[in-house]
Amino acid sequence: SKPIVAIVGRPNVGKSTIFNYIGRNRLSIVEDIPGVTRDRIYMDSEWLGHNFTMIDTGGIEFETTDKMLTAIRNQAKLAIDEADVIMFIVDGKVGMTTADNEVAVILRNTRKPVLLVVNKVDNMKNEADIYEFYNLGLGDPIALSATNALNFGDMLDRLIENL
Ligand code: GDP
Ligand code: MG
Repeated sequence: SKPIVAIVGRPNVGKSTIFNYIGRNRLSIVEDIPGVTRDRIYMDSEWLGHNFTMIDTGGIEFETTDKMLTAIRNQAKLAIDEADVIMFIVDGKVGMTTADNEVAVILRNTRKPVLLVVNKVDNMKNEADIYEFYNLGLGDPIALSATNALNFGDMLDRLIENL
């Protein structure tokens, strides 16, 4: 079967925008299986002839920071269990956050490839915004602007190298 690419990161970094862009023109399948897979959206996609299945998590809102942190930690653990490659999305406009660090701690403990994507770099003149994310200890971050459709090609090239 196809390799699984899980998209993880704290709320509002642009995960769903990225997911929808990569899978544009394709039908997403919303799985409604009770338990851990609830609210997870699967979509088959392809880049340069390489097929893969992406997983996005539903747009859940959290009443407290603690609940949000628990949920994203679980999301990261689940990704480690079931994905072949993990796309970890952070926000280049906001910069590095505590929640990003929490996810990174978990992702550093897997041998599975992690692609660190700094989204919202809407102008590649601001590419220096990605450098602070080297501190997450997950290798070379790659800049992306999902809304301006910038750098998707380079990002997807990096992704398929790791499939
Ligand atoms: P998610 O919660 O991680 O799934 O994030 P969403 O995909 O729902 O996006 C959250 C917000 O960020 C939305 O208002 C998006 O339009 C916005 N957004 C997503 N990608 C970008 C980007 O590259 N640049 C900017 N400026 N905004 C973005
Ligand atoms: Mg979302």
